[in-house]
Amino acid sequence: MTSVLLRQVDIVTLDDAGTVLEGADLLVVEGRIAALGEVPVDTVADEVLDGRGKIVLPGLVNAHCHSPMTLQRGAAEDMAFAQWLPEIWRIESSLEPEDIYWGAALAAVEMIKTGVVAFNCMYFQMGHVARVVEQSGLRATLGETVFDPGAGTSAADALEPAVQWTEEVLSRRSPRLRAFLAPHSPYTCSQPLLERVVEEAHRLGAGVHLHVAEDQAQVEDSLRRYGRTPVQHLESIGLFEAPGGCVAAHTLVVDELDVEILARRSVHIPHCPITYAKLAMPMFPLSPLLDAGVPLCLGTDGPASNSDMDLFAVMRQTALLQKYLARDPASLPGDTLLRMATRGGAQALGLGDSGVLREGAAADLILLDGDAPHLQPRNSLIANLVHSAKGSDVTHTMVDGVWLMRDRQLQTFDEAEVVAEARRRGERLYARSR
Ligand SMILES: [Zn+2]
Repeated sequence: MTSVLLRQVDIVTLDDAGTVLEGADLLVVEGRIAALGEVPVDTVADEVLDGRGKIVLPGLVNAHCHSPMTLQRGAAEDMAFAQWLPEIWRIESSLEPEDIYWGAALAAVEMIKTGVVAFNCMYFQMGHVARVVEQSGLRATLGETVFDPGAGTSAADALEPAVQWTEEVLSRRSPRLRAFLAPHSPYTCSQPLLERVVEEAHRLGAGVHLHVAEDQAQVEDSLRRYGRTPVQHLESIGLFEAPGGCVAAHTLVVDELDVEILARRSVHIPHCPITYAKLAMPMFPLSPLLDAGVPLCLGTDGPASNSDMDLFAVMRQTALLQKYLARDPASLPGDTLLRMATRGGAQALGLGDSGVLREGAAADLILLDGDAPHLQPRNSLIANLVHSAKGSDVTHTMVDGVWLMRDRQLQTFDEAEVVAEARRRGERLYARSR
């Protein structure tokens, strides 16, 4: 039995009542939170950590990313989305298979160091990313991205390799590694291909992860091709009824009927505002979606557009941009943002017992240095966490009761090796693609 006892920590539980426990204890046994609050003084644990000065939070969940794209950081700058995407695809054509492993490893290092415990990633050759998940100790849901096949290839044939990979991952029944089917988007996947995705999702009991309605041009194109918005097109195909749920990244341009559909089908929407701002994509107030009951979460998107994997930065940018867009400083208060960054993401990934600190929940948690200068004074701990905390304040990251980082030291990766190899490969990829 492995057990860890944190003594005298300040615990932000993010439970339904928003309970904050100051100077409290938290006991982890066999990957679960066994007790929190007052733990008897004679309790014996394998490890006892003096938590004075530390803040404990549920671990953050990055609900939409393309982790291997760390290697394309800085490779396509100051471009509009319509130019940026083909440029990224052009660079990707020079990738070597092992580049995908090292790019994802660099992302994993960044995520563990900034308090992420789980991520939802779609890319290709995902077996390399699965290796990273297994080694890192992180939780992840991975999707092998599928595009429309060229002429002469059937939808079934185009989808088959991704289906086989998804089936193989799901058959492992791993508590940390899961798989979604991942058609890239309704604008790059034909209706027959998406219909095939729906069939396979039902056969496998799988969820679906894709990009939806990223700008006005995509909506107009969908109206021309199908007479429906992208959301209504996907609803008519039955894609939102995938048994493992649906994660629809971005989903920025929506009308009232779209919002009603997204709420009724509980479609999880990862919001990635740093990508939107950097690529000058459309952004609208999220509060109508929240009010309608659409489940929202946060993502970094790929580091070719977000530029890092720090979800604390995403949380703060979401707060600032949403208050500004709504012309309402009361829009998206602090605990709403913290829940989007934790429980919202955990639910999108089907990790229902992660994202909250309570007895019986998964021990997926992080510790922050509560003595950092920018976290003083403690007039509002919640506001400090949303508006002042940085990923670099995280000192410890735990997944399933296991430390992935202790006292800022990674436990599952050689950080220097990953940084050096990813840098070498990223610079070589950029040079090759010129
Ligand atoms: Zn994306």
